[in-house]
Amino acid sequence: MKPFIPQLVYFEPEALRYPLGKELYEKFKHMHIDIRETTSHNQVRGIPGDNELQQYRNAKSTLVVGVRRTLKFDTSKPSAEYAIPLATGCMGHCHYCYLQTTLGSKPYIRVYVNLDDIFAQAKKYIDERAPEITRFEAACTSDIVGIDHLTHALKKAIEFIGTTEYGRLRFVTKYEHVDHLLDAKHNGKTRFRFSVNSRYVIQNFEPGTSSFDGRLEAARKVARAGYPLGFIVAPIYMHNGWEEGYFELFERLHANLQDIDLTGVTFELIQHRFTKPAKTVIQKRYPKTKLDLDETKRKYKWGRYGIGKYVYRDEEANRLNDTIRSYIAQFFPEATIEYFT
Ligand code: SF4
Repeated sequence: MKPFIPQLVYFEPEALRYPLGKELYEKFKHMHIDIRETTSHNQVRGIPGDNELQQYRNAKSTLVVGVRRTLKFDTSKPSAEYAIPLATGCMGHCHYCYLQTTLGSKPYIRVYVNLDDIFAQAKKYIDERAPEITRFEAACTSDIVGIDHLTHALKKAIEFIGTTEYGRLRFVTKYEHVDHLLDAKHNGKTRFRFSVNSRYVIQNFEPGTSSFDGRLEAARKVARAGYPLGFIVAPIYMHNGWEEGYFELFERLHANLQDIDLTGVTFELIQHRFTKPAKTVIQKRYPKTKLDLDETKRKYKWGRYGIGKYVYRDEEANRLNDTIRSYIAQFFPEATIEYFT
């Protein structure tokens, strides 16, 4: 698939005071992309579209270049201590994506140009916890790899973490555009994870992302570049024939990674979940979705800010967990399973 190119780019004026802001401005001008100015991302006006749905789709190909003002990082359990904010939003159209609710009415993609401020803050967090390791997750609020060919902010973050003793970086992606990251001086401190799933889930729920084969080819490249490698199987979803579907996934993964050194490979397992507000948004934006969002079949789990989520009932969750773990044990006996949630 071709790398993402925005149709429309907004600049916050302050962004042009930073080298990356200037560089991006010149780049997009050169590419003849429609560039507009906005005082702040909250003031973004005029995303084209005759109705809400069209505006939503157009927003997903709109980029806002700005300055990250909040430098307090969110926590990011269970995969890391902190979320490092490099971008927000994503051009993908995964039906189940939680950004649909967390980004609400602002689904455009934002990238931040004050990287030195962000890295200085990360350094503070690392120093506070030293000699404990501090892990940063870079894909909490976007699929950063899919955007990074434009900004190289992730590449800089990888190299910054590479220079620290106690910092670690991790992110997950559904995109194959990794070539510019292969020569980054990561010093083994960045774990590169790919999101994988059964054919059914990828075909039905992940439009606008790279194919399974594309992701796998990218995984091979990053493993060869010496990055610690991982896979996130998410969302694990009980579709008809899910047992065969997930078996086939691990079979294909295994077949495609035969010649790769898999020492230290990790898996993270996340069952499908949704909230009530997410259900409303998903059904509005993807009205034909086959995603099963029937609360009566699920277990309610209390969540942060009083918004609980619907997960599989214990018996089903245990079946998912046991089944996926058995496949990993069969095909990747050397792997570590970090968690099932
Ligand atoms: S690729 Fe990730 S961040 Fe992007 S829409 Fe899909 S689930 Fe959301």
